[in-house]
Amino acid sequence: MPNDDVESLLSGLEVAELFLRQQQALYGNIIYRSPGSAAVYEASDDDSLSASSSVHEPPVTESAQRQHVPASVHTPPAQRPHAAPQSAPRAAASVHTTPSHRVHEAWQDTQQLAELNAAICMCQKCPLGATRTKFVFGVGKPDTGVMVIGEAPGADEDAKGEPFVGRAGQLLNKILEAVNFAREDVFIANILKCRPPNNRRPAPAEVEECEPYLWKQIELVKPKIILCLGLTAAQTLLKSTSSLGALRESVQTYRGIPLIVTYHPAALLRNPNWKRPTWEDVQKFRKLYDDIIAAG
Ligand code: URA
Repeated sequence: MPNDDVESLLSGLEVAELFLRQQQALYGNIIYRSPGSAAVYEASDDDSLSASSSVHEPPVTESAQRQHVPASVHTPPAQRPHAAPQSAPRAAASVHTTPSHRVHEAWQDTQQLAELNAAICMCQKCPLGATRTKFVFGVGKPDTGVMVIGEAPGADEDAKGEPFVGRAGQLLNKILEAVNFAREDVFIANILKCRPPNNRRPAPAEVEECEPYLWKQIELVKPKIILCLGLTAAQTLLKSTSSLGALRESVQTYRGIPLIVTYHPAALLRNPNWKRPTWEDVQKFRKLYDDIIAAG
């Protein structure tokens, strides 16, 4: 890994730390569970991420949650904490028995990302709809044909309604910049649109309900290439049980779209040894993208 690029990733870590300190100054420990560290994931050998069971999160009260939503920001009623959906949700009894994507719904016919967001942002199909602060649809431009897919919103994302804005997000920005992609020029989304409590791994029933929204986003963005962050996102999207190591070994495909798997930035923050392989993955990602563009 060239020194400049190592420096770039390292300075990404510093930016992330600075960001953390600013957030803590603003919000205290409401967002972050352990003093001095925003890390909420524990990395295992295979890069799977899970909330630390040894760390206790103070209960987040509704008023505390509201503190995360700047008063000046217009928030549609349904995105306010615990807001009642404006349109009638499916009957609660059917939530865990009949995955709703087996029934035709209006959002499936949308033709624009904004239209899709409007159609799904009040979703209450799984219990995460009741605990979220904001629905995290995704962000960015579809134009470059690059899509980055993570696992699920964390506390910062839940508060802001945007994916990858916390410490891992700061590092993701640096990783993208290191291969000349601006965050604004890619489309970033997650498998889940709402934050799982304590940042635990998405539950199968939540994925079952939520992943179709991502499939639709992919259909609308029409990416030329996808970067998948972490084992959970990769296994979910690829319907695979392979290890992260195995998935990283070659270019995967999702419905014919080339897909590269790399470490989740949150895992990378916990294990700096994974910086070099991540660097190699994103170099491969950039080269493949350039080749695809050159081939027209
Ligand atoms: N981790 C994710 O997988 N997605 C986010 O949006 C933030 C953290």
